[in-house]
Amino acid sequence: MMRIVQGDITELAVDAIVNAANEAMLGGGGVDGAIHRAAGRELFEACLAVPEVRPGVRCPTGEARITPGFRLPAGRVIHTVGPVWRGGGRGEAERLAACYRNSLALAAENGCRSVAFPCISTGVYGYPAEAAAEIAVREARTFLAAHPDMEVVFCCFSARDAAVYGKLLG
Ligand code: ADP
Repeated sequence: MMRIVQGDITELAVDAIVNAANEAMLGGGGVDGAIHRAAGRELFEACLAVPEVRPGVRCPTGEARITPGFRLPAGRVIHTVGPVWRGGGRGEAERLAACYRNSLALAAENGCRSVAFPCISTGVYGYPAEAAAEIAVREARTFLAAHPDMEVVFCCFSARDAAVYGKLLG
């Protein structure tokens, strides 16, 4: 099942919320900053403990890592790193799809039945909202066909984003 929620992802009592992180995983602006503030210092420590795959990179673009949610109502945080939009010709769509696929696979592996996503890459990273939402919905549909007991929540911070998802989910 898929549903749309308009609001702050840090308030959702789901099994896992997804963070639009950066490769260092040590916090940032936007939804990343909000999640770290709400989860508390322990989230930063847990991210710091994730091994680097190369200097300064704990989670390469398109991949995902999981930590506890600490002070959040959500049990877990799945950190994924969306692509920076560079015009669409640099593999952005495939990398964004990989974020959704890898985050959902990690949720399933960890027994999370409800997973909430922000609109990954559509803030500071500049990915066009409609194109990003099409990828999010397509990947969620494919995943849910194989995991019919799970729930995917699209958490839209703005009414505009909620309307974009509303159109796609009809
Ligand atoms: P990125 O760097 O991947 O573009 P941003 O955090 O800049 O990430 O933006 C991603 C999306 O998260 C944007 O649509 C932004 O409006 C949204 N956002 C920001 N704060 C929150 C929040 N507290 N809950 C849900 N979504 C949020």
